[in-house]
Amino acid sequence: MPGCRVFMLPFVVIVGRPNVGKSTLFNRLLRQNKAMVHDRPGVTRDSLYGRVQGRTRDYTLVDTGGLVLEQGAQLEEEIYEQVREAMHSADLILFMVDGSAGVTALDEQLAAMLRQSRRPVRLVVNKVDGEERAALVEGDFYSLGFDMNMVSAAHGYNMPVLQEAIESSLPAHEEPEDQAAHLRLSLLGRPNVGKSSLVNTLLGQERVLVSSRAGTTRDCVDVILEKGDKRYVFIDTAGVRRKTTISDDLERFSALRAIRSCQRSDVALLVLDALSGMVAQDKKLLSFLEREKIPLVIVVNKVDQIPRKDLGKLKRYFQDELAFCAHAPVIYTSCITRAGLGGLIPLAEKVLGQSRVRVGTGELNRLVRDAVQAHQPPLVKGRRAKIYYLTQPGTSPPEFVFFVNDPGLIKPAYARYLEKQIRKSLGLDVTPVKLFFRGSH
Ligand code: GDP
Ligand code: GDP
Repeated sequence: MPGCRVFMLPFVVIVGRPNVGKSTLFNRLLRQNKAMVHDRPGVTRDSLYGRVQGRTRDYTLVDTGGLVLEQGAQLEEEIYEQVREAMHSADLILFMVDGSAGVTALDEQLAAMLRQSRRPVRLVVNKVDGEERAALVEGDFYSLGFDMNMVSAAHGYNMPVLQEAIESSLPAHEEPEDQAAHLRLSLLGRPNVGKSSLVNTLLGQERVLVSSRAGTTRDCVDVILEKGDKRYVFIDTAGVRRKTTISDDLERFSALRAIRSCQRSDVALLVLDALSGMVAQDKKLLSFLEREKIPLVIVVNKVDQIPRKDLGKLKRYFQDELAFCAHAPVIYTSCITRAGLGGLIPLAEKVLGQSRVRVGTGELNRLVRDAVQAHQPPLVKGRRAKIYYLTQPGTSPPEFVFFVNDPGLIKPAYARYLEKQIRKSLGLDVTPVKLFFRGSH
């Protein structure tokens, strides 16, 4: 189909009760071919999802255990919710259980849910440290009724077999993304904040192509806007338009849905409602985007609903509420008066441009020298961090690695100072950046 943007890495989701080893497996699969194992994130926390480069297939892996943003124990209801979401969107579900604990009641309940799933499910029996253990515990898990692999995520037993099984369970290769797309935008936000209206109003009378894929596991309808020689793609607008019928769904934040959208887009548009202000779900979504360092623009929509005299107050309110994600630019829009709409795509392009910046080593080293000269790392128990050099291994968003004598000597305040210097010298004011510190040994 002309203009079809068919690209999505297969989506593999790990579910299971707490402590079975989900994050251990996640880390092992994700980090196996990364040299970053010993990096210490500075202002950046570890991601909850990532791209696994397999032997034959690449895929996106999500650890649902990490998706709970609030501190504290994971509640059963929350685990069910993650499983339901996985059943909705995963190409493959890895259902993990603890081989040293046998089948628990919760495992059985999750299995019953998963048997209803039309998605492929693979049972991963973890904490099995070798052939002997495997032979002993295997029989316990047949009753759950899934194809299974016995592994030790911590020690590596049977991991190549599991990797092979994962890759061969994935759907056939999908077409690569069309490089002609200039900017891919995803729309995030609560229902009724105006996401569909924004797309429709932005499209206006422009030439619009709609691409869709029928008959695949996920329907994705992308809308393409052509302006001059530029092509803008609003991804997965079906997901945006699909209205939920269950009322308590309205206020629920779905990290899996957000991940699915963001992994395909260059810039996310987080749409907020000027009238209702920031509610809990908006905050969760924004914390998630901030944590994952996703390039974004915040769109405060329906400003026509606010009396002109209160606009100053409105902006101060959002400035305060959004302070924890200071790099994200904010634009105030109305689909009715068209206020702000002309600036939206240019602002997203600015974010895109900054998120793709690549800086040479010479400039980075000058930057470090100046930053350290202006403000030395503080003494930590009588020792001082020494920064040898800085590299930029990645973009989208820009990723910086400081090579230092001992990453433990870089405290959060100094990491924040370095981030500020990077932003200032490189003119990166609207993109997220990732900072890592690596020891020289
Ligand atoms: P999650 O809550 O499901 O993400 O579980 P974690 O990955 O945090 O693991 C829970 C505990 O099980 C940790 O103490 C891990 O070190 C341990 N663990 C994970 N995998 C294995 C394994 O293969 N063998 C053993 N013996 N312990 C493991
Ligand atoms: P979505 O669920 O986020 O896609 O929201 P919709 O685009 O369906 O909009 C929800 C409701 O808000 C509809 O009744 C729209 O007409 C209305 N709406 C959208 N944008 C605006 C706006 O800028 N101002 C006003 N007053 N209403 C708007």
